[in-house]
Amino acid sequence: MTDYYSILGLQKGASVDEIKKAYKSLAKKYHPDVSQEPDAEKKFKEIVEAYQILSDPEKKQNYDNYGDSYKNFQGHQGFGQGMDFDFEDIFNQFSDFSFGGMEFRDIFGSKKRARKDTGQNISVNLTISFEEAVFGIEKEIEYERIEACDYCKGTGAQDSKEKVCDSCGGKGVEIRQQRTPFGIFQSQSTCRKCSGLGKIPEKSCSHCGGQGLTKSNTTIKIKIPAGINTGNHLRLKEKGHAGKDGSGDLYVVIFVEPHDIFKRDDSDVYAEIPISFSESALGAKVEVPTLNGKADLKIPSGTQSGTIFRLRNKGIKRLNFDSYGDEYVKVIVETPKKLSRKTRDLLEQLEKEEKMSKKRKTLFEKIFKKFE
Ligand SMILES: [Zn+2]
Ligand SMILES: [Zn+2]
Repeated sequence: MTDYYSILGLQKGASVDEIKKAYKSLAKKYHPDVSQEPDAEKKFKEIVEAYQILSDPEKKQNYDNYGDSYKNFQGHQGFGQGMDFDFEDIFNQFSDFSFGGMEFRDIFGSKKRARKDTGQNISVNLTISFEEAVFGIEKEIEYERIEACDYCKGTGAQDSKEKVCDSCGGKGVEIRQQRTPFGIFQSQSTCRKCSGLGKIPEKSCSHCGGQGLTKSNTTIKIKIPAGINTGNHLRLKEKGHAGKDGSGDLYVVIFVEPHDIFKRDDSDVYAEIPISFSESALGAKVEVPTLNGKADLKIPSGTQSGTIFRLRNKGIKRLNFDSYGDEYVKVIVETPKKLSRKTRDLLEQLEKEEKMSKKRKTLFEKIFKKFE
């Protein structure tokens, strides 16, 4: 059985706050686009699934009571709904190894690839309300980012004067020798100090110490599409940390707060409404809450408590599709707790009419016959 609590590093019975807190820090740590951990993608998916179950009071209770198997009778689809993850090969620049005049590319496997000096990706968590997720919204987020230094425009130089690079002697390349079981390899890569230019500034920029980069707070406006859900992320190209060869990406990981009335499952919503005994017996037209205000629901006569009605296309917009989920309304027949004299009289007449005790008598007779 999958132990969702231990995936989040928690004990069974952890509070909502603890679950949220654990999820946020783990999601940040294992987000596959920024994480350096092995198996980050697999772990991230497990963490998201655990959170989706444990953050939903109903699913959590089912899980606490029945464990994994609750999925079977709930028709739960598990993880995989919503957005796909796009992983990019950020190690797209290899250095060339030369050996005996022949060229070897990437002989040590992908782990040894030299990476281009692109800035790191950034992952930011964003919590939005249920309504914001349903209808979409524009949000401003603030985050810390490494940017090109304003003062030297990223050059790292105090002024335009230059001198020959002392690291590569002006050649612009670094040559390194490596002794291996196959012989001596010579690897050649771009000089990191001068970025291959062969020249460096005579004086470093006093603002960034010659790095050409500074850390600063940035705000950015992002459009959150209608239908987004917890665990989805938005990728903003080149809004991550700046590097010498371009910027990384910004990933905004979405958390949706639960709603008091509506429960959500993918693009479907669930709500419960109370109806009276007479409405259930006689049939009625009742007002029900939907995401877009009230709607009329016709309840046929003889409706039982717990009956679920479907309101087509009254659910949540499907992310990246032009279609909507459904709303399911469960009617709960409420038994009055206090009776007026008149109601009591009416119900007593009804009771005589229904002859329920007789019906139960035949039921008992059927049961006890079996034991005879
Ligand atoms: Zn500078
Ligand atoms: Zn150099």
